[in-house]
Amino acid sequence: MAKKISILGSTGSIGTQSLDVAEKRGYEVKVLTAGSNAKLLEEQIRKWKPNYAALADEKAAKELRLAVADTDTKVLIGKEGVNECAAYEDTDVVINAIVGIAGLVPTLTAISKGKDIALANKETLVTGGALVMDEAKKMGVKILPVDSEHSAIFQCLEGMNKKDELKSIILTASGGPFFGKTREELKTVTLAQALKHPNWEMGAKITVDSATMMNKGLELIEAVWLFGVDPSMVDIVVHRESIIHSLIEYNDNSVIAQLGVPDMRIPIQYALTYPERYESPVKKLNLWEYSNLTFYKPDYETFRAINICREAITKGGLYPGVANGANEMANYLFRQGKIGFLDIADLVEKATEKTPIIENHTISDVLEADIMARETVKALI
Ligand code: NAD
Ligand code: MG
Repeated sequence: MAKKISILGSTGSIGTQSLDVAEKRGYEVKVLTAGSNAKLLEEQIRKWKPNYAALADEKAAKELRLAVADTDTKVLIGKEGVNECAAYEDTDVVINAIVGIAGLVPTLTAISKGKDIALANKETLVTGGALVMDEAKKMGVKILPVDSEHSAIFQCLEGMNKKDELKSIILTASGGPFFGKTREELKTVTLAQALKHPNWEMGAKITVDSATMMNKGLELIEAVWLFGVDPSMVDIVVHRESIIHSLIEYNDNSVIAQLGVPDMRIPIQYALTYPERYESPVKKLNLWEYSNLTFYKPDYETFRAINICREAITKGGLYPGVANGANEMANYLFRQGKIGFLDIADLVEKATEKTPIIENHTISDVLEADIMARETVKALI
């Protein structure tokens, strides 16, 4: 029987590539949701005939409801509508490809219904890591990584016998468009320059996060939660070509890597077919086409966001959530032309200094800390 899937964030970079995988694998799409792109979601509804769809933007959702009134798809409205879609029961797996903390509550909702999650939305784990992992354990559901680095680690770990044999996790980073630049040069870089990623076509927010290397900081936190390791066990290496997607190191210093051409349809498909593998539309890796694979130590002084995130997850509690919320706001303000590139990490650092200390925090503490972090950033500029 065809696998049934729900896609949250179906109009984005990961969402559309997930539909590509679904088409090749012959899956049935039961639910599609997005933020505000009614036009593309309408096209997707007409093609995929999901039972439910939703847009977080209420006005756009109402327009979409009228536009697809001739179809059998029920359109739900707003944030609650997206969340109701995440709760839809007649599905095998929920792909969360929403961008930002907007993905957190839908992830928890889908887990509470016992659904496995194919997780692209790293902000879910950065902000709600402890709550999400606990709930997943309680419900016996799998969190299958879609992020390419985490899919790589997940695949490398399949050969491990005992957890205490693992010495470190090594995340690769492309270094983004500003690799090798000095702080002086970064003062004046523009949004257009930040959006020119060397290896990946992604949404604007994560592309800017790659330029600041905040993305690698968020991924460090994501790795801590997904693989249950101490932050000190996660190392980062700049690898410009994005062919090695990440590595693990054993206690005997043997290192295992996962490689492939940079194409997100490999990790998306593996999250959906795990533990099985199938042929994919992705180009075969011919190593001779990449005769120079390069590796560098990250420039932590220039790209400060990585260590700000490392410190946040080491302190724990609400620190990572505040760093994430502050980054979402600062990243947005940079895209709006309101702040400079180097201001992003500075604002994130300043906001984390105001992190409330709450033992055993709840989901409402996380959501409140997120709002506080955004307000702090706005007040600082
Ligand atoms: P994107 O901006 O292209 O797409 C985001 C999707 O989320 C869109 O469908 C959008 O409509 C929807 N959305 C936006 N705001 C929303 C809201 N408030 N409520 C509900 N839906 C909303 O982003 P993307 O590049 O596809 O990234 C999605 C997630 O996957 C991010 O967390 C990103 O870090 C992660 N990720 C992306 C890539 C990649 O190659 N694009 C790789 C690894 C991880
Ligand atoms: Mg990644």
